[in-house]
Amino acid sequence: MTSFAQLTTTKVGGSARAIVEANTREELILAYSATARHDEVIVLGQGSNTVVGDDGFDGTVILVRSQGIEILSDTGTQVDVRVQAGHNWDAFVLWAVENGLAGVEGMSGIPGTVGAAPVQNIGAYGQELQSVTLGVEFLAEGDREPIRLDVSELGFAFRTSIFKQGRAGVILSVDLRLTRQFNALSEPIAYEQLASALGLNLGDTAPLTHVRELVLELRRSKGMLLDASDPDTNSTGSFFMNPIVRASFALELPPEAPRWPVDDDGQLVKLSAAWLIENAGIVKGFALPGSRASVSTKHTLALTNRGGATTEEVLELARYIQAVVQSNFGLILQPEAILVNAEL
Ligand SMILES: Cc1cc2nc3c(=O)[nH]c(=O)nc-3n(C[C@H](O)[C@H](O)[C@H](O)COP(=O)(O)OP(=O)(O)OC[C@H]3O[C@@H](n4cnc5c(N)ncnc54)[C@H](O)[C@@H]3O)c2cc1C
Repeated sequence: MTSFAQLTTTKVGGSARAIVEANTREELILAYSATARHDEVIVLGQGSNTVVGDDGFDGTVILVRSQGIEILSDTGTQVDVRVQAGHNWDAFVLWAVENGLAGVEGMSGIPGTVGAAPVQNIGAYGQELQSVTLGVEFLAEGDREPIRLDVSELGFAFRTSIFKQGRAGVILSVDLRLTRQFNALSEPIAYEQLASALGLNLGDTAPLTHVRELVLELRRSKGMLLDASDPDTNSTGSFFMNPIVRASFALELPPEAPRWPVDDDGQLVKLSAAWLIENAGIVKGFALPGSRASVSTKHTLALTNRGGATTEEVLELARYIQAVVQSNFGLILQPEAILVNAEL
């Protein structure tokens, strides 16, 4: 039996009762519609945002492996593409960069599949999936025919969407709009750390290939680029979400706690989960006594498997972090990773 330790990047979790691999869109439709009628189903891409309990899953896992990038239209400055759900996200970004197309270069190196990208509206280094998404092709649970969902119907917000909020089904493909800038330049850089690594100011542009290289370098230095030889990458990336709180609550926090406005009237602000964890006294590399799970040695937000850890060891660490942050700052960090048969 295949275990989730082999199917997920945190390399933890028990076994699945059955596994089906879908290598084309048609196989995915067949596998999902046939299986979901009589069995519990988990749709899995590369398992880079999923943590499954040690008891595993008494149902069928459908592994999404459909591939392909199709150009739908090209106006010269705007290129619309359709990417199949199982296509590796970073392979798609590389394709875009090599073809001089901007819009996703800041999201270079995010692990996972294109089909999973809308689930939590992936984002990094000043770019977010929602700003390039046109829509998805979706097969809803119980349906035989796929439908098209426009981006306006996807409920995109910070690291979430209707899919993360419980809309059951499978994303078959994603339509995205990329742009062709003069001289294969990037979109304006919208992330301070990336701008300064490039020696530029916020809002400047740079060659796409240069932006991609820098992003990959930054990600590697933080253990945020999958690397079989680096145990800091045996994770789901950020385990916790940056909390969004009322501005009045944020006023109670130390003034040096980073915060960013998220709405126009300034009622809500986003806090840095990494800052909260570090300032609650949890250092990089922290582990509970005897545990094989630890905070990454490079990034406080990643909970990593140092070799042979169980899901329970990862969750114990997560619960400990939640408790310490709560007692210091009065808020409960929520997981960004998707927990299956596992609870905090
Ligand atoms: C080292 C590391 C760094 C990371 N950095 C970032 C980052 O910078 N920004 C960011 O946003 N995320 C980041 N992540 C999280 C992860 O890469 C993304 O969430 C990614 O989109 C997950 O893709 P996946 O194919 O591995 O999804 P999986 O873990 O396989 O699935 C995630 C969820 O989506 C569902 N799902 C998967 N495919 C489909 C489909 N076709 N249709 C419907 N539902 C589906 C699954 O059921 C599950 O609920 C990081 C993860 C790691 C390990």
